Amino acid sequence: MTTAQGTFPALVLNADYRPLSYFPLSLWSWQDSIKAVFLQRVNVVDEYDQVVHSPSYEFRLPSVISLKDYVKTGNRPAFTRFNVFLRDSFSCQYCSGIYRTEDLTFDHVIPRSRGGRTTWENVVTACAPCNLRKGNSLPKEVKMHPLRRPDQPSKFLLQENGRAFPPNYLHESWRDFLYWDSELDSL
Ligand SMILES: [Zn+2]
Repeated sequence: MTTAQGTFPALVLNADYRPLSYFPLSLWSWQDSIKAVFLQRVNVVDEYDQVVHSPSYEFRLPSVISLKDYVKTGNRPAFTRFNVFLRDSFSCQYCSGIYRTEDLTFDHVIPRSRGGRTTWENVVTACAPCNLRKGNSLPKEVKMHPLRRPDQPSKFLLQENGRAFPPNYLHESWRDFLYWDSELDSL
């Protein structure tokens, strides 16, 4: 089994048994998980069948771990391109099309050339054709207004939006802790 995170990743839950993060899903490599188990920072909630050996130990790799100390994640998400896309659910705010990250751009509602700033309130997700069409115009000049008034999202909103995008790989032991909006039938 190989994933983007390497082999045998562990799902990391906060002390309240909710995933630390949905999107990207909080996963640790088995090496990091084992280290945290030895340092007694986490509880093992579930395990893989896979066993690892050291000269003096034999143990099964954890598939789900929970932090012993609750980590406060704060409510102010970082202002990043990705989080803007996530806030807007990967849909162009002008034509409502849904695109892959690499096909999306970052549009200034009030263009920088007209004094617009790079803030949560002035930046929206746009597909390349819409971005090009809008160019350096104000929304009213080209009659292109964002579908949703842009603002700073809460971490909660980003988590909620992230739940609509389950990763390609999900181990069965993770299911009890994840509540995806879409079906899990394809597993
Ligand atoms: Zn568009």
